[in-house]
Amino acid sequence: MSIKIKNELKEVIIYGGLTMVKQRLTVGTWGNISIRDTETGLIYISPSGIDYADIRVDDIVVLNSDMEVIDGKAVPSIEKGMHIAVYNARKDVNTVIHTHPIYSSVLGVNHMELPGISEDFVQIVGDKIICSKYALPGTSELATNAVKALGSRNAVILPNHGTLCVGKNLKDALKISYVVEKTAHVYIMAKSIGAPYLISEHDIKVMQEFARNHYGQRE
Ligand SMILES: [Zn+2]
Repeated sequence: MSIKIKNELKEVIIYGGLTMVKQRLTVGTWGNISIRDTETGLIYISPSGIDYADIRVDDIVVLNSDMEVIDGKAVPSIEKGMHIAVYNARKDVNTVIHTHPIYSSVLGVNHMELPGISEDFVQIVGDKIICSKYALPGTSELATNAVKALGSRNAVILPNHGTLCVGKNLKDALKISYVVEKTAHVYIMAKSIGAPYLISEHDIKVMQEFARNHYGQRE
């Protein structure tokens, strides 16, 4: 039986990469993005060392959950182990985005966590996000540390490095990446002129519950 490779998912990766750059979540060839095909379980990932503007459909690599290359001639992202570790740990996640944005990276340099200080953040990212233990880029140690600190939240800060954001699809993961960076920016600005007020655990739970059950258009 031949394995079904989907060019449309490769196109989604290319669009996601260009959007990351446009939203200033990363520059050049840094960062990486992957999608899990819910039908086959295969993982489509951006290649290593090619500028997002230059990535073509044939450059996207397809891996299985054991990190074996199923399709594609390019070298996959060096962070493939971190992406696959997330998919193996989180059945609810089908897109992983790793970025190097400024304000989240500032928190990472200080090994600080980001509290849930706004409605959008607590509804789609989590009550807060924490900073994982340090490890060198591309190592299995980084993958282990990132998955542990991610837990059941949708983002984690990678110390002296960047962020890792996850979602059920690309649209979701891009939105989460944007909201994490926006919130890090707001938090740092707020701390620079005073002491930020934090939202209580109770109110965070109320907002999360509302987002889960009542928000949006009625079906
Ligand atoms: Zn990186």
